[in-house]
Amino acid sequence: MSGGDPNVGSQGSGGPNQRLLDILAHAANDFIALPTSASSGVIDRTLREVGELFMVDRAYLFEIHENGRQMSNTREWCAPGVSPERENLQDLPTDICDWWMGMLRTGQAINLASLDELPAEARGSRAILEPQGIQSLLALPLIRDGRLTGFVGFDHVRSRRVWGPVEVAILKLLVGFFGQSFERARAEQRLLLAATVFDHAHEGIFVTDANQKILEVNPGFTQITGYTRQDAVGQTPQLLSSNTHEPAFYEALWKSVLTTGHWRGEIRNLRKSGEPYLETLTISAVHGDHGGVTHYVGVFQDITQLKRQQERLQYMAYNDHLTDLPNRAQLARTMTQTLAQSQRSGDMVAVCYLDLDHFKPVNDRHGHDAGDRLLQETARRLKSALRGGDTVARLGGDEFAMLLQGLTSEADCREVLDRVLKCVREPFPITPEMSETLSASIGVRLVPADDLLERDPDALLRQADQAMYVAKQEGRGHAHFFDARSDSDSAKRKSRIGQVERSLQAGDFVILFQPIVDLKTGEPVLAEALIRWRMPGDTLKAPGEWLDAIKEHRLMVDLGAFVLERALESCRTWQDAGFRSGVSVNVSARELRERDFAQNLRRLLKSLGPWPSSLLKLEVVESAALHDLAAISRLIQECSAEGVRFSLDDFGTGYSSLSYLKQLPTASLKIDQSFVAHMLFDEGDRAIVAGVIELARVFGRSSIAEGVESTAHMKLLRSMGCDLAQGYGIAEPMRLERYMNWCRAWPERRMAIMGLENDS
Ligand code: C2E
Ligand code: MG
Ligand code: MG
Repeated sequence: MSGGDPNVGSQGSGGPNQRLLDILAHAANDFIALPTSASSGVIDRTLREVGELFMVDRAYLFEIHENGRQMSNTREWCAPGVSPERENLQDLPTDICDWWMGMLRTGQAINLASLDELPAEARGSRAILEPQGIQSLLALPLIRDGRLTGFVGFDHVRSRRVWGPVEVAILKLLVGFFGQSFERARAEQRLLLAATVFDHAHEGIFVTDANQKILEVNPGFTQITGYTRQDAVGQTPQLLSSNTHEPAFYEALWKSVLTTGHWRGEIRNLRKSGEPYLETLTISAVHGDHGGVTHYVGVFQDITQLKRQQERLQYMAYNDHLTDLPNRAQLARTMTQTLAQSQRSGDMVAVCYLDLDHFKPVNDRHGHDAGDRLLQETARRLKSALRGGDTVARLGGDEFAMLLQGLTSEADCREVLDRVLKCVREPFPITPEMSETLSASIGVRLVPADDLLERDPDALLRQADQAMYVAKQEGRGHAHFFDARSDSDSAKRKSRIGQVERSLQAGDFVILFQPIVDLKTGEPVLAEALIRWRMPGDTLKAPGEWLDAIKEHRLMVDLGAFVLERALESCRTWQDAGFRSGVSVNVSARELRERDFAQNLRRLLKSLGPWPSSLLKLEVVESAALHDLAAISRLIQECSAEGVRFSLDDFGTGYSSLSYLKQLPTASLKIDQSFVAHMLFDEGDRAIVAGVIELARVFGRSSIAEGVESTAHMKLLRSMGCDLAQGYGIAEPMRLERYMNWCRAWPERRMAIMGLENDS
C-alpha cells in the first residue's frame, strides 16, 4: 500500500483513525476486565488488528532482558506471505544499535518512511534492518518506571508507509497499555509468591497496622498459637501475652522497633489453650512512601521443644543421672564460683571428699538395684544434713563431694561433718525386713579465704581425696583434714615458683641422661632424662630439692614440655651418631591432666619428621597414675596409638592393686630404688623386688630396677629374672656429650661391670 493521507479517515466505518481508536478501546477494555493470564492473547490480537488495518507486513514486540544487555523478539504477527523473523531475533545484544536504543530510551518514537532517513551513526540498526528488506517502520518504546523495557514495531517490507502524528500518538497510548499489562502481571506474580510464602511458612506471621491492630495472620500463626484468623484480626499481639515479662521488657522491645526498625528475641507467650510456649520473634516496622510506619510484621517460631531438649542435654552434662546431684563437671563450676565468692566475703570454704565404707560388699550381696537405691538414699541424706548454699555432688561410684561455704572456723566445719557422718550411719533399709549399716570416710581440704595458691578446684579436690585415703587408713568412719602447709611454707613455695619460672626463661635448666641397660646382654636400651637446675658457679641442683614446690603448678607443664623437647632432640643426636638407645622421660601428674597432652605430644613427634616414636618412653609415678586411673589409662591408650610406651615409675610406693595394674596399660614397671637399695641384705625388700618382677612377668610387662649400685645387685637381679637395670653401678646421670662418650666406651667395660660371663 502506498501513501495517501493516512490521518484522514477514508474507508469503511469511520476511517482508519476511528478503527484505530476502536482497537485501542477494545484492548484497554480487555486489559482491565480480563485476568492477566489473557494479556498475551490481547497483545497478539491487537498487533494483528493494527497490522491488518495499516497493511503492515510485520507487527512485533521486543522485550529487553532483566540484565539490560540483551533483548528478544517475543511476539510477532506477519501478513500473509511475509516470512516471520522472530526466530532470528533472539538474545540480541542491545549495544549493537546504540542510536536506536538511545532514541527509544528518551521516549521518542522511531518513525522512518525509508531506511535512508537513518543517520550515519545508526550503522548497527541498519545492519539489522536491511537484511530483513524493510522499507518503512515505526517503533514505539515500552517504558516502565522511567526505564526502557522493550518496544513495539511495525514494519513495511513490500511497500512504504509514512505514519501520521495522530496514528503515532494513538499507537503510543496502545503500547502504554501493553506496558501496564506487563507491569500488572509482574506485580501479580510477586504477590502470588508472597502469598505462597505467607501461606506455607512454618513460622507464624502476623501483620498489624501502625496501631498494632492485627490485619492478617497466616496458617502458621494458627498452628502455633491456636488462634484462628477470625480470633486474631482486630486484636493486638497482646492477645498472646503470658504476663511473664515485665513491662520494661516490652518497652525495650518497642523502643528497638521504633529506633532501629526491628527487634529480635525470645518471648514467652500463651497459646489459646492456655499452654505456655517459647518463641523467637522478629518484629519489623514497615515504612510507607512518606517515611511513617504503616505496618508491623511479626515472624515467630515455636522453640519450646528445642529449648526443652537443650535444657535436658545441659542437665545431663552437669548432673548425675542416678541421684540427680551435680556431677564432677558441675562441681568444678560451682567450686570456681564459691571460691571467688569466699575470697570476697573472707569466709572459709571446705572441699570434702566422701567415700562410703564397705559399699562394694553390700552391692555384691544385694545386687545393683539395691546398691543404686542406697546411693540415692545417701544423696538425699547428705543434702538434708548440709545447710542451704552448700553443695553435694556425686563423683561416681560411692564417692561424693561436698562443698561447704560460709565457714568461720574449723570447728564450724566439724560440726557439719559430724551431722553428715551421723546421717550415713543410720541403717539403710534394703528390704522391708532387712537393712544395712554403713559409714563414710571423709577427706577435708579447708581453704581459708586468703589461701590464694590453691585456687585450682582440681588440686583442692585431689588434696581432699588424699585426706580421704588417710581417713580410710586411720580406720574409716571419720573425717581427716588435709594438712595445708603453714603460711610461711606457702610463701616459700611461691617464691620458689617465681625463681623456677625465671630460670626456665633464662635457660638455666639442663638435662642429664642415665643409661638403662639390658641385664642379660648389657645393651643400653634407654636413657632416662633427668632434669637439673643450674646454679651460679655451674653446680647442678637435683629435683629433690625444688621440684615438689612446683609439681602442682601450671609451670610444671612448661617445664615438662621443655624436658620432653630437649630429650627428644638429644635422642635424635645420639641416634644420628649411631647409638641405638631410646629416651625415657618423666611426666608429672599435673602434665597428664592437661587436656591436650596427647595432642601436643603428637605434634611434637610430628615436628621431628620420620622418627620412630617407639624410641620414646614416658615414666609416670605410680601414685600419680592411681589418682585418676580412668583418665590416665585413657591417655596411655591414646599415646600408645602413636607408638609411645609408658613405664610405671617408683613402683611399690603407691597402693596399686592387681585390678589397678590391669587397667594401666604400661609397658614396664620400674621397681622403686628404696627396695633395690637394700635387697642384698634385707629379705623383706628382696621379696618385694622378686614379687614385682613376677607381677610384671604375669602381666606381660618388662621390669626395670632403679638404684642399681653394684655388680652384686646386677647379678642377683639377673638371677631373679629382672629385665633392665639403671643406677650408679652402671653410670650416673650425664650430660649429652658425656653420655655419647659413655656409649662409645661401654662395650669394652660392660662384661666386667655387669658381671656377665661371656659375650653370648
Ligand atoms: P626417678 O624418675 O625415679 O629417677 C631416678 C632417680 O634416682 C634420679 O634422681 C636418679 O639420679 C637417681 N638415681 C639413679 N641411680 C641411682 C642409684 O644408683 N642410687 C641412688 N640413690 N639414686 C639413683 P633425680 O635425678 O634426683 O630425680 C629424682 C626424681 O625427680 C625422679 O625420680 C623423678 O621422679 C623426678 N624427675 C627428674 N627429672 C624429672 C623431669 O624432667 N620431670 C619430672 N616430672 N620429674 C622429674
Ligand atoms: Mg623416672
Ligand atoms: Mg623412679
